[in-house]
Amino acid sequence: MHRRDALDKIAWHHLKQLTAEEAIQLITEFFEEPLKPSLQEQLNITAIVQWETHTPPPDLKPGNPIYRPILLDKMKRPFRGATNEYLAEYLRHQVGIEVEEVEGDLPGWLPCPVCGHLTFEVVGDWDTCPVCGWNSDPVQEAVHDDPTGANGISLNEARQNYRAFGAITQEKLADLDPEEKKKYPLSA
Ligand SMILES: [Zn+2]
Repeated sequence: MHRRDALDKIAWHHLKQLTAEEAIQLITEFFEEPLKPSLQEQLNITAIVQWETHTPPPDLKPGNPIYRPILLDKMKRPFRGATNEYLAEYLRHQVGIEVEEVEGDLPGWLPCPVCGHLTFEVVGDWDTCPVCGWNSDPVQEAVHDDPTGANGISLNEARQNYRAFGAITQEKLADLDPEEKKKYPLSA
């Protein structure tokens, strides 16, 4: 199975489990976020016109098919950088689909400067690494012993902590899902 199809199957599996409240929450987030070109291509014009107002309609119906691409995109998001092996295991054990293997190229993400897993689509854009909790702050990534910035500790300290206990700080450790480490490949 191609990883594109694996991601679709995982997204549908999660979509079916969403409650109406969760779906409303996710669609509401969509109205507050920039519209990604990859998503825009899949959207019905009505959804785009609604998005342009940045306000969800008062009678928002989460089951309306015009919102389905939004929900599927959000369901897929946490798996897009996962290895083919991870996707295959996930399909077998969480979705209940027997697959021989998943194939296809990974999206070419960039390594986290702390843990080395390929968790960033872009570095220096204030995204948070799901493996170690590092927030990609471009200033801290240029000056490795600067503790001021998004992380409250320097990149060098963050690396030491990651080696010692698996996260940039003890506080972050409590919020991280150990599963994420299995999901993202390590940079070569
Ligand atoms: Zn990391």
